[in-house]
Amino acid sequence: MVQCSKCGRTAVTYIRYNGSHLCSAHFQEYVERRVKKELRGQLDIDKSKHIAVAVSGGKDSCVALLLVHDILSQRRDVTISAITVDEGIAGYRPGALEKAMRLSADLGIEHHVVSFRERVGRTMDDISAELGHRTPCAYCGVFRRQCMNDAARRIGAQALATGHNLDDVAQAILMNFTRGDVERLARMGPHLKVQPGLIPRILPLRSVPEKEAYLYALLRGIDFEDSTCPYWEAAMRNEYRDIIDGMEARSPGTKHSILASYDALRPLLQEKYPQTALRLCGCGEPSPSGRCMACVMREELLLNGRPGQKVPSAADPSRRHRGGRSQGSRPSRTSPGARVLPSCSRYGRAEER
Ligand code: SF4
Ligand SMILES: [Zn+2]
Ligand SMILES: [Zn+2]
Repeated sequence: MVQCSKCGRTAVTYIRYNGSHLCSAHFQEYVERRVKKELRGQLDIDKSKHIAVAVSGGKDSCVALLLVHDILSQRRDVTISAITVDEGIAGYRPGALEKAMRLSADLGIEHHVVSFRERVGRTMDDISAELGHRTPCAYCGVFRRQCMNDAARRIGAQALATGHNLDDVAQAILMNFTRGDVERLARMGPHLKVQPGLIPRILPLRSVPEKEAYLYALLRGIDFEDSTCPYWEAAMRNEYRDIIDGMEARSPGTKHSILASYDALRPLLQEKYPQTALRLCGCGEPSPSGRCMACVMREELLLNGRPGQKVPSAADPSRRHRGGRSQGSRPSRTSPGARVLPSCSRYGRAEER
């Protein structure tokens, strides 16, 4: 029986990158301490009194919701809301939305649902069929971000927390770096400056490895969804995941080092690529050019996206989703407790635009 390095009770995990064995209580404390530190560094609580958490029902977003609640709900002047985006992927974690709704209800947090079908005009399954063999993740990522930003704005949130963990962040850094997309590297969250119309994103779990988020969810008894998106296999991000996991196995601490290096370089990157003033797109989303990527993609799909036809390339901000922040598949509009955000007239169906 291996003992906790701190108290001598039975250890539940071994943290390879720092050589410590931790019992359940000390492991939870270890995770919570880092999340508190991230929230302190990322969130100006005097300015952000309403925090929306993007919660899919997967482990990471559920942990993010629970910890944001644990840490901030004591403050009477702070409101916490949950937002779930339903991309419409049949058979994909059909219970996820229900679990997000149930956790929100247990915590006394208002839960909002926004769907691709309403906001984008079609489901991810529709889009995937139109794309043929191409991965739909690039489209999914852009449309999901638009849905989340729009929903957060409409409920009056001043910050949007997502469940991205250390693995996700390290993969995104490496992806942008190897693609030479330095400007995107400079714009990665957390967003410390407020831009009109763009709800700043915060990442409370950005220094918590995926394995630790998973164990934390289990130890806290969170009922999370753990299935995988059917389109996940095609996601480019998987290659980066394999590379980084291999490096971490050989040299524990690599993921933290990637993040630390990025944080050291970030001020220089932001100096080189300062935020440009955003202009409102016709759909209401802010964008540097005045025409947002979601509208560009909607138009591509409308003009070219017929089955078997090649769709013009677009930026690939794909996000892998497995058991975490992927948003549930089936609309749960009848779920008790969940509020379906009313359709916004600015987001008519793509066919009508
Ligand atoms: S893997 Fe993630 S980004 Fe790709 S289609 Fe599925 S939910 Fe969307
Ligand atoms: Zn202990
Ligand atoms: Zn737009």
